Amino acid sequence: MSDEHADKASACDHCGIFTIPGPLAVQSAWRDITFEPVRDNIWTASEGIYRTIFVEGRRGVIAFDTLTTPGTARAYGAAIQRALPRKKLHTIVYSHEHLDHTGYAADLAPDADILAHELCDRVIRARRSDGQLPATETFSGERQAYELDGVRFELLYPGPTHGDGNIAAYFPDSKLLFMVDTVIPGVGYTFFPDWHLAPYVPAMRRLLSLDWDIFVPGHFWITDRKGFEANLQYYDDMAEVAQDAIAKGIDPHDWEAVTRYTQQNLDGRWGHLFRFDEYCAMNLSRYMQHFLTGGWGIEGNYHVDPTPF
Ligand SMILES: [Zn+2]
Repeated sequence: MSDEHADKASACDHCGIFTIPGPLAVQSAWRDITFEPVRDNIWTASEGIYRTIFVEGRRGVIAFDTLTTPGTARAYGAAIQRALPRKKLHTIVYSHEHLDHTGYAADLAPDADILAHELCDRVIRARRSDGQLPATETFSGERQAYELDGVRFELLYPGPTHGDGNIAAYFPDSKLLFMVDTVIPGVGYTFFPDWHLAPYVPAMRRLLSLDWDIFVPGHFWITDRKGFEANLQYYDDMAEVAQDAIAKGIDPHDWEAVTRYTQQNLDGRWGHLFRFDEYCAMNLSRYMQHFLTGGWGIEGNYHVDPTPF
């Protein structure tokens, strides 16, 4: 960010990777946050679309992610303060590197320690986004146990799923799993931006070997093992239907044909799902592109070792 840009931005805001002159009112806007206890010392917070968790320790708070914008990050910090007024937010854990989930630690708690997978941190350091602070501690590999401020949890990297270094947080004592931008209620989000479709389902299924019965996603509503498994089944079906559509001569660039094929072949089984009418045809189109192009990059072609955790 140039000095000139910094002068125009509001004193407490960060600009992400925007290059147009600020301040950007939509990024700075305050968002009302709802928060409620989930189980034991684990809380969840949401502004209606995005969701995250924060955890009460003995002396302070561990917050996961920073929520969507500078304004939301500040409101998230205020919500945590309201829920736990005597505890300081001392640690942030990043789920993955996307700015809409972890872009604004500088607005949430600039002095906090930050934990992330090294693959996530590598992207953050390359991106140099204003307000997205690099990790102060990273881990590599698949599994790292922490006992922090009296809170026991594990961070798990099951393989490439969405974004880079996207991890699940597992709380064995509370039998709770939290993971962002993977399993969510309903169909997949738009055209599956930055999803790695080949390894996605095998990587996600590995998490079923752990002992949990509450799944907190990064969007919308909390679910359970049944909801988690049913959601993965949707992805398996999409992969099959996409191949059938190609075999039947549907052109993924012919939007009318893809929409018609979606209605004829997926509505019966999946039409009840949240956002089916908005996104299912986009989901199918992306899966068709995957089979025609071979997916994208190393992450999209990774073969997951399905060994349970
Ligand atoms: Zn994401």
